Amino acid sequence: MKHIPIAKPSIGPEEIRAVTRVLKSGQLSLGPVHKEFETRFAKYIGAKHACTVSSGTAGLHLAMIAAGIGAGDEVITSPFSFVASSNSILFVGAKPVFVDIDPVSYNLDPAKVEKAVTKKTKAILVVHIFGQSTDMGPIMKIARKHKLKVIEDACESIGASYKGKRVGTFGESAVFAFYPNKQMTTGEGGMVVTQADRVQALMKSLSNQGRNADMQWLDHVRLGYNYRMDEMSAALGIEQLKKLDRFIAERRRIASWYERAFAKHAGLVQVPLTAPGNTHTYFVYVVQLLHPNVKRDEIIARLKKEGIGSKTYLPSIHLFRFYREQFGFRRGDFPISEQISDRALALPIFVGLKKTDVARVVDTLIRLLKTYDA
Ligand SMILES: *Cc1c(COP(=O)(O)O)cnc(C)c1O
Repeated sequence: MKHIPIAKPSIGPEEIRAVTRVLKSGQLSLGPVHKEFETRFAKYIGAKHACTVSSGTAGLHLAMIAAGIGAGDEVITSPFSFVASSNSILFVGAKPVFVDIDPVSYNLDPAKVEKAVTKKTKAILVVHIFGQSTDMGPIMKIARKHKLKVIEDACESIGASYKGKRVGTFGESAVFAFYPNKQMTTGEGGMVVTQADRVQALMKSLSNQGRNADMQWLDHVRLGYNYRMDEMSAALGIEQLKKLDRFIAERRRIASWYERAFAKHAGLVQVPLTAPGNTHTYFVYVVQLLHPNVKRDEIIARLKKEGIGSKTYLPSIHLFRFYREQFGFRRGDFPISEQISDRALALPIFVGLKKTDVARVVDTLIRLLKTYDA
């Protein structure tokens, strides 16, 4: 029986050739390739600038610094995210202020955002989770009204659009990530995009040891980091970016197979929904297990025995132990996020997954779920 993993990168001969070319060139860092990746990426997103970084997490850290966020500041963000988004607020000594999510998109609920604004609020860190945008119209309105910066964690939603506009073009800066399970990969890696010359200059300096704008080798003008992306990763990124629209189309096709296969089982499984105005790029395919007696950990173990990868995705950040201890969060603080977390099950989705694989995943899951009915 063939094993179906939950995620898998799609690497072809083009990627292997491009990385090999860099290896043979002798210039493995700070060469022309990452610059070409930045130019192509900015164009794809529709942003003025792009800056390669060593990971999405590194990009989020720099986005916080560039926004001038520091000790004593509050940043409003989503508890339903990968931990790195909220951690980036902690990296600069600020306080994450979580507000609950919209039950359709699983992203920040704008109505709750406005209520959470205080005198200390400096920014809103929106997270476009799973492959679709936050409701950016009202978010931008709140930000303008209260003079808040907006930063986008777009690490899971490359290529997604909101009312015809790509994610990554709304905030002061936006961060993308290229870990191997994302829609495109560079191994480890990330990208920060911005419309602002000031932010781009800061990104370039902060990611490269705080060097001066003219990159004089030993002129360090501020506290910086080594968050650079190497040239091999950038070469991989260029080839993946060329294929990205095809990759996204394939993910959407796989999602439509799942949706059709689950349609007969509406009482057992809720498929992901797309909020009005959004196009979804399916970083993951997460269903909600609706039957109250179902033991999710058992389901995951039983799926694994049948050769199918699955995962709880995502746990709510406020319930991680160090967040509870540092900020006093408790179960019940963000009930929608918690309910989605408790029922969520991520199923395999990757370029190359076959229609017959999807049928096997759905048939197996439904068979297992029905064993709980009695
Ligand atoms: C993947 C991801 C990140 C971090 O990306 P890394 O490249 O793994 O550091 C940040 N936020 C979200 C929501 C993510 O899914």
